[in-house]
Amino acid sequence: MIRFEGVGKRFGDHVVLRELDFTVAPGEFVTLIGPSGSGKTTILRLLMTLERVDEGRIYVGDECLTHVPKGERLVPAGEKHQRRMRKRIGMVFQQFNLFPNMTVLQNVTEAPLRALGLSKGEAEARGVDLLELVGLTDKTNARPSQLSGGQQQRVAIARALAMRPDVLLLDEVTSALDPELVAGVLKVLKQIASTTDITILCVTHEMQFARDVSDRVMMFDQGQVIEQAPPEKLFTDPDHERTREFLHAVL
Ligand code: ADP
Repeated sequence: MIRFEGVGKRFGDHVVLRELDFTVAPGEFVTLIGPSGSGKTTILRLLMTLERVDEGRIYVGDECLTHVPKGERLVPAGEKHQRRMRKRIGMVFQQFNLFPNMTVLQNVTEAPLRALGLSKGEAEARGVDLLELVGLTDKTNARPSQLSGGQQQRVAIARALAMRPDVLLLDEVTSALDPELVAGVLKVLKQIASTTDITILCVTHEMQFARDVSDRVMMFDQGQVIEQAPPEKLFTDPDHERTREFLHAVL
């Protein structure tokens, strides 16, 4: 569902990703771990087309995200292609960024109404189902400011899923939450992972969560995958010294 082929990204002279190759299979839950500044968020931002690759290609499903054919050649994709591809990808950020002047339900139905052209009835039916999935049926008509951070983040998750994306990107979604609210959000994500066939790429510092839900964990350092393995292997018996050091520091 996701394929990076020789992806390079730099900011000025600073090389953030170098010749990066990896794939994520349909329905797979892959977690990226690694030191701060190693390029994890940049990977998610490239997938969201918030940044452009300097080298290489990214594929989502059977389509190239970054390039389009022009005659015999592939050329960097324009804004229209990227906008179309972006509909296949949902992202939840550390900051929830809900629309403060809309109700919880309106936050969830806004994008499907505008971007997918769903009728109000269809969008609301979808929204109601999703609010049930994230355990917020009783908050349907509340405003974001009336919710806890954890509840707001669960609305943000429902909002991302409302577009029925093929891929869900999760960027440190619990980092801004008070500790007692983290578990509720992780529980919802765990349920989504186990009950839907969505493909999830997740960046997190919650190692226990990564261990519980991931099919595969990729250890990242300096813009490259150092090693990748199922969590039971990576967290207990990593092959790489760098992974061992990192886990020792965070666990
Ligand atoms: P991680 O998510 O692993 O902490 P990031 O992908 O956020 O790492 O960042 C990787 C490196 O790229 C960092 O050194 C960061 O400072 C740099 N970086 C990220 N975005 C930008 C930007 N827009 N401009 C300049 N440097 C950036």
